Amino acid sequence: MRIQADRDVCIGAGNCVLAAEDVFDQDDDALVVVLQEHPAPGQEAEVRNAVAQCPSGALALVED
Ligand code: SF4
Repeated sequence: MRIQADRDVCIGAGNCVLAAEDVFDQDDDALVVVLQEHPAPGQEAEVRNAVAQCPSGALALVED
């Protein structure tokens, strides 16, 4: 599983960081930064939660 983040779509709401702080961060402009493009199996649930909570649709999961 791989995370795709579209920083042109991100509105900097930060929901992803709150949902999975080990996987997502925000830069100085509050735009999403993916810390782990390939999350560990144990992180899948929180990553799916983060994607579901993103209000802008900037995040997507793709199967490898
Ligand atoms: S939740 Fe979505 S809009 Fe908010 S910072 Fe993360 S990627 Fe950007």
